[in-house]
Order: sequence, then structure tokens, then C-alpha cells
Amino acid sequence: MKKKLIQGLDHHVKTIYCIGRNYAEHAKELNNPVPTSPIVFLKPQSAICYNGDTIIIPQQSNDVHHEAEIVVCISKSGKNISELDAPSYIAGIGVGIDFTARDIQQKAKEEGHPWAIAKGFDTFAPISNFIPIKDIPNAQDISLQLLVNEEIRQSGNSSQMIYSINTLISYLSNIFTLHQGDLIFTGTPSGVSSIKSGDSITASLNTNMVTLSVSVK
Ligand code: ZN
Repeated sequence: MKKKLIQGLDHHVKTIYCIGRNYAEHAKELNNPVPTSPIVFLKPQSAICYNGDTIIIPQQSNDVHHEAEIVVCISKSGKNISELDAPSYIAGIGVGIDFTARDIQQKAKEEGHPWAIAKGFDTFAPISNFIPIKDIPNAQDISLQLLVNEEIRQSGNSSQMIYSINTLISYLSNIFTLHQGDLIFTGTPSGVSSIKSGDSITASLNTNMVTLSVSVK
């Protein structure tokens, strides 16, 4: 499943980093504390799918939630990147949905286990095309919206993030060496809810600057 993320550049998806609870309202709606440092987890490449694809609800879960997220694509390798230098490591910005088996995640949280299964099923990381960073007016002011069957469920703005895109790039790169084609799912605003078979889901940034539409099997 190799696909160029940004036309003209040789980006393919590498590591998929995700940030939990990066919007205070979303942490509250799930009765979670607001974090004091970024909560990091990973998704496998097998979870990636694209605009127009079908999301599969796995037989292991009865409660899969949508989480609309701004997704950053990394442009080049880097380690210990400062927040000041972070913008030069962004190739582009897109929208993704961090699908989550909430029932499995809840059990994992109670037992102190990792979230890998709850977050990692096939098709649980659909992504849009990526807009080159030079075409984004202001990365600190990107609006994000998700509709289920044409009804608005989630809306937010990158300005509401607890940890900004630049802070996340700096934080992650102090732990992991970042590479071209790595993605960062930057967390979801409030309004997450269950999906069901037959739903059609559309996420967008800056009023249709980029959109991602998927259906649910
Ligand atoms: Zn998420």
C-alpha cells in the first residue's frame, strides 16, 4: 500500500505517531485528566487507508468512535528539533480520522494495558491528501470539522491544541528520530461518537481546503 502523500515528493507513510487528549474539551468528555506532557501512541501502517475507502468495524468491538484530527507529514529526518526549527520539518498538513475501539480502549485503560489493539485495526487510520505547508496560511489557525451523515459532530481549531504542532515535533524528536513520511495525528477535539454500518463520514480542514470521505461497512 504505497502511495505518494504529496505530489512531486517521494513521501510514503512511515511511522504513524498519534497524540492523545490534546484538546481539553475532549479529555473532559471522556473523564480523563488534561495531560501534563503529550500522550504518545502509535498505529501500524496496516491501519492506513484513503479518501473513498470503507472503514471496517472489527468483530472484536461494539463501540468504534471517530476522532477527526489534523495530521502532519514530516519532510526530512531530524532529532532533537527545537520548536523554532520545527516548521522546516513539516512537508504538509492533511486530515485523518483516528478510529478507536472505545470498548477495547476502556478495558485496556482499566487494566493498565497499551492501546495498540484499540487503535490499530485495519482501516483505523484514513488520511486525506496533504496540502504542502507553503500553501497553509497559518498552521496555528487551522479549522477542523467532521460530519456524520452530513450532520456536524466535531469542530475545532489547531489554536485550541494543548501542545502545538511545533511543540509536538520538538517533543517527539527528542525521543524518536523523525523521518520523511512520518505522520503525526495531533489529537481530536470534543464530539467523538460511535459509528455504525452505513454511515458516511467526512472530515475537512479550513472549510474544504482538504476533505476526507469514508463510508462504514
Ligand atoms: Zn485520537
